[in-house]
Amino acid sequence: MIDADHLEPGVLYRRDPFVEPVPLVVDSPHNGTHWPTDFDHRVTLDELMTSVDAYVDELFSHTPAVGGTLLAALFPRAYIDPNRAEDDLDAALIEGAWPYPLNPGEKTEYGMGVVRRYILKGRPLYDRRLTPDEVLHRLDTYHRPYHAALAGALDHAHERFGSVFHLNAHSMKPVGNAMNVDDGAARPDVVLSDREGETTDPAFIDTLASLFCGLGYAVAINHPYKGAELVARHSDPAAGRHSVQIELNRALYLDSESFERSSGFAALKADLDTVLDRAAAFTRSYSAA
Ligand SMILES: [Zn+2]
Repeated sequence: MIDADHLEPGVLYRRDPFVEPVPLVVDSPHNGTHWPTDFDHRVTLDELMTSVDAYVDELFSHTPAVGGTLLAALFPRAYIDPNRAEDDLDAALIEGAWPYPLNPGEKTEYGMGVVRRYILKGRPLYDRRLTPDEVLHRLDTYHRPYHAALAGALDHAHERFGSVFHLNAHSMKPVGNAMNVDDGAARPDVVLSDREGETTDPAFIDTLASLFCGLGYAVAINHPYKGAELVARHSDPAAGRHSVQIELNRALYLDSESFERSSGFAALKADLDTVLDRAAAFTRSYSAA
């Protein structure tokens, strides 16, 4: 049983503030491991797990205790990825004609569009093409409800405070692989991104960067991740809607063989609790100014 204020089984859950609210929303779109029965993939569970941002919702579970709202996906991103636009779709995956315009981006070229083609380099997820109805079902039942729930949480805070701060939370492999732009490169502890300054007042990303640096973490901005669909679509800094994507290095908290929490998990969680406490204070003072 998931402890939640709002639960859509197999799709998502939301936890609301249980102290005085602040305009902070954290979403974790990639931690889901509720495998849909119609997934029909041909890869191993270990291969699937490489695509999961395991335990990211748990790492940010302090959010409601600082007055923020936490939203997390339950479905796997390898099935349908809410951090890609609906039209970021690979026509080669589809049986017959796709009935809507397509706009495949760089991620689709790497096999990681809204529906993934490859789980790892050269390792296709499917041994057949998907029908348009299968993909439309994934969009209708998972992708769109996730975006609607995030928009609802952001709108709710924005109405009350006049601004809202959105932290879109992920974790990343310690070293880029052949499906990434930084193949073979070691990654820092934390990557923060705002699509090169497009998705937030710089004060929010600067505050987060200095909080992590102050706790001893190596932080990079906009490389190798520059922010994707969720921060692009749900931000509008001029209207008081600020979004930052955060990637945490899995080496900090995850055993890469077993996909279990490693001995570093508790220390990272404690530091994230501190970051959330201080980020909440930032959002409170920003909105009061
Ligand atoms: Zn992710």
